[in-house]
Amino acid sequence: MRIANLADRVVLLTGDGAIDVHQASGGVLSSDPQTLFDHWRDAWPVLTTLTGEASPYDEADLRAPVPRPGQIFAIGVNYREHAEESGIDISSLTWPMTFTKFASCLTGPSATVLLPEGWVDWEVELVVVIGERGHRVQAEDAWNHVAGFTIGQDLSERISQWSGPAPQQFSLGKSHPGFGPTGPAVVTLDELDDPADLAIGCSINGETMQDGRTGDMIFGVAELIAHLSSIAVLEPGDLIFTGTPAGIGATRTPARFLADGDELVSTIEGLGTQRITFRRTPAATI
Ligand code: ZN
Repeated sequence: MRIANLADRVVLLTGDGAIDVHQASGGVLSSDPQTLFDHWRDAWPVLTTLTGEASPYDEADLRAPVPRPGQIFAIGVNYREHAEESGIDISSLTWPMTFTKFASCLTGPSATVLLPEGWVDWEVELVVVIGERGHRVQAEDAWNHVAGFTIGQDLSERISQWSGPAPQQFSLGKSHPGFGPTGPAVVTLDELDDPADLAIGCSINGETMQDGRTGDMIFGVAELIAHLSSIAVLEPGDLIFTGTPAGIGATRTPARFLADGDELVSTIEGLGTQRITFRRTPAATI
């Protein structure tokens, strides 16, 4: 099942178009995308029974599929090659490096993002959508807490991110408006041959920048859920950005960052594609 946010209404995407969930369920399910994921456990059995005529839609009207999560967790250096390009010793990573992206940065899968001053970098990431409340979840049980996956870009302004101290600046440097593109849809795990190993990558203006597999994560999805929930309560509708593979702009020689007019295309096997366009904004004042 592919669940999307079409102009602020929940829809199921089929090969033919979009089915409006509120209408198809006879009003049983909310039209609001966040409400659906906040009540995932009750919504899922109804969703599986829905049928209806799919209508054509404009991809430009797709928005963040989970628009107002209560919590967004994000994980740094969670792929081996990305740890190497970042000069981090993998054996030192005994716990996932955790920060947040503030929810105001979320945007949809075909957004135009305004570039702030600084060095704005890309990080294509698998994003986990939590479907069931959990505290101290065991790794063996963790998949039962997942509603589905979507594509995310953990856009990052490197100057502020690295201005330290890390706990605050990572989260702020990654939370400018539009710095959390997600979508096009939340895809349930039954749609995927192997949810633990998916091809993941991105390109800028047609040139490949990142090309990896989610199976190369240092801490896989189940381990991340176990680690995070060993401290925080995970709630339905929360998001986890699970880290990015090698190929970010900051570690290239010479370094490369996003520029006015660039198109960033991100793809994960089975989850679809998102296309973000960038525009330079006038200098901001604080
Ligand atoms: Zn990241």
